[in-house]
Amino acid sequence: MPTTAIAGPAPDPMGAGRPLTPEILAPETVAHLEERARHVRLETIRLIAIAKVGHYSSTFSCAELFATLYYDAMRLRHGEPRWPDRDRFLMGKGHAAVGLYPLLADWGFFPKELLDGYTRLGNPLGDHPDMTKVPGVDFSSGSIGHALSAGLGMVMGGRMLGQRFDVYVMLGDGEMQEGQVWEAAMAAAHQRAGNLIAIVDRNGYQLDGQVDEVMGIEPLADKWRAFGWEVHEVDGHDVAALATLFRRLKQDEAREKPACIIARTLKGKGVGYMEREAGWHLGYLAPEDEAAAIAEIMGQAAARTRFQGDAR
Ligand SMILES: [Mg+2]
Repeated sequence: MPTTAIAGPAPDPMGAGRPLTPEILAPETVAHLEERARHVRLETIRLIAIAKVGHYSSTFSCAELFATLYYDAMRLRHGEPRWPDRDRFLMGKGHAAVGLYPLLADWGFFPKELLDGYTRLGNPLGDHPDMTKVPGVDFSSGSIGHALSAGLGMVMGGRMLGQRFDVYVMLGDGEMQEGQVWEAAMAAAHQRAGNLIAIVDRNGYQLDGQVDEVMGIEPLADKWRAFGWEVHEVDGHDVAALATLFRRLKQDEAREKPACIIARTLKGKGVGYMEREAGWHLGYLAPEDEAAAIAEIMGQAAARTRFQGDAR
């Protein structure tokens, strides 16, 4: 069962008093972002087959977030993972790195052939991301709770150097139970870190079960607002809504408040039996199940294409 707190449409999606009317994105843009999210899911399945164990469901829940960040929102340069003015991306939920690596390879930050040896001895691509080994990874994570503090540090460092870039920090909803997150939240508001954007992947689950059974975190939006943040709630699988929100935040250069996006997602999104099933936090698909999962993901794409064709 999903938590009731995240079900249904948000009453005020922009959270700052402005209605969120999704921009009319070009159909090609939406299709491209959806294809990139599908690529994340398919590559996640392929890479975990190499490792023989991995985090499917945590990665599937943020596939659209990865796609929209890396192909619409973030300012990056192909082949230049250390470009000083690039936007930064940090993952508190580092266990979803398997879905990020294919995008970093696509940006030319390291050879795509490295993906084929994911987690194998001597290969830099591990189950959790290591910034000392993987070009394009801005922060090492796995032990959760530190990323927002590190992201604020990057904002402050950029400010000292006269650089202006945005820092995106993706956090798990279970990660909201970590005290250091709230120390960073308090400090970021005090420092008027307007170019710090926290994204909570609100999939309702953590390793041990439902977040609100392990230790409740609601009312989550009110908590972030009380800490001085601008809060937005959005469907984390709707690439048009995500792109609209990220674009507006980037355009709002006068904003002094850091921004928190609470993205309502499904853990395991895309493969029916994984959705909302806590047991899939860590797992491995037998070859026949892997084929069925791929068929389901590809079937959703085909159905969407047919629907869009009918609408024309
Ligand atoms: Mg979660």
